[in-house]
Amino acid sequence: MSFAHLGLSAALVRIASDHGFESPTPVQEAAIPAILEGHDVLGLAQTGSGKTAAFALPILHHLLHERRGGSRHVRVLVLVPTRELAMQVGEVMRELSHELPGPIKVVTAFGGVSINPQMMSLRGGADIVVATPGRLLDLVDHNALRLSDVGALVLDEADRLLDMGFAEELADILEMLPAQRQSLFFSATFPDDVQELANALLKEPVFIEIPDEPEHAPDITQRSIKVDAAKRAQLLRHLIKQEGWSRALVFAATKYGTELVAHKLHRAGIKAAAFHGDLSQGARREVLEAFKAGELQVVVATDVAARGIHIADLPVVVNFDLPRSSADYVHRIGRTGRAGASGLAVSFVTPDMENHFRLIEKRQGQRVARELIEGFEPGDQPAGADGTVPDDDGEAQAPKGLDPNGGIKGRRKSKKDKLREAAAKAGTP
Ligand code: AMP
Repeated sequence: MSFAHLGLSAALVRIASDHGFESPTPVQEAAIPAILEGHDVLGLAQTGSGKTAAFALPILHHLLHERRGGSRHVRVLVLVPTRELAMQVGEVMRELSHELPGPIKVVTAFGGVSINPQMMSLRGGADIVVATPGRLLDLVDHNALRLSDVGALVLDEADRLLDMGFAEELADILEMLPAQRQSLFFSATFPDDVQELANALLKEPVFIEIPDEPEHAPDITQRSIKVDAAKRAQLLRHLIKQEGWSRALVFAATKYGTELVAHKLHRAGIKAAAFHGDLSQGARREVLEAFKAGELQVVVATDVAARGIHIADLPVVVNFDLPRSSADYVHRIGRTGRAGASGLAVSFVTPDMENHFRLIEKRQGQRVARELIEGFEPGDQPAGADGTVPDDDGEAQAPKGLDPNGGIKGRRKSKKDKLREAAAKAGTP
């Protein structure tokens, strides 16, 4: 089976292949034709099954063939449980739509950061909004968007949406959506409350169940190093030099992150380049060829872009930003230790990512002992007055509103945060 047989437009088939998706995964094979035909879908699929592309590709296909809505209108709404997933799904949408003939506007919205930039980016509407439910409602309250024209709704990781206590928000959002729409519902598990939610929003869905396949890692040594976010670039430089890594693939969560890390390495005299979906195909090819030829020592990539990197001899993989899921972790580290060679996978664990990494370890059924590297032990990192974290070069690491940790861990505002904000507002004349 190939992508060309699923009914997707030629441009999307080409884009899938450019991303290294040679053949559709089982969930894609089942979901893409059903979604293209306009059916609702209930997909029981794990992260790692390829479910994001399973809904993203047919949604982009539909968008290419439909008329745009008016200002403040949203055509496709993707609801996700966490900031981390919002960023990742938004990134996949952007990467897959980047080379399409018409521009597709993707806006990502999640809590825990200022709402203003998100409101600004919603001006003039958006083709696709990927959001966490709480922030989406805040944006509706601010009149930043209208949901009355949403043609397709995706609930991604529906079980986690409910686990995180979003049932009320979801009910509020569903009320604002037009009854006439396509709904796609993905969940890794299917307990009663998830089933109820699915019944409430799906109409005669096509049911897709993909069993979870255990994945096996070959001979890969895994290490994890505790480090502060702002010290990671310096630690990476240190390790590359100290341990004499001949070639390393470094994963960052966002395109911005890949550029920033590659830039810092480059400045330190290490031949490094960023690799992501915003680069032209020619530029991507050049990077790959230079990496294969040994002219580049380090490539810093996003998960999606890295799919196109096939390198037999890759001794080191670095998780500069942790992957969002245990399945992605397996995918990432599986790029090293191929063809019988042994590989090394190093994960940088910042203090606020400790719990996230523990979860990954738990899912893998293994513990990776944390190391401390002299001179890079985590300590207090006071943020600057403008909300940026100064990094080891004294540069602001990420502009306000952008997550310096690559936006892995989502956090909704707690009641306390909201109260504090309200109190602060009341205090300002
Ligand atoms: P997901 O389940 O959406 O989180 O996807 C897991 C990983 O599989 C991501 O890194 C995708 O880039 C990758 N992926 C998705 N579809 C395919 C495909 N058809 N072939 C190879 N990799 C894929």
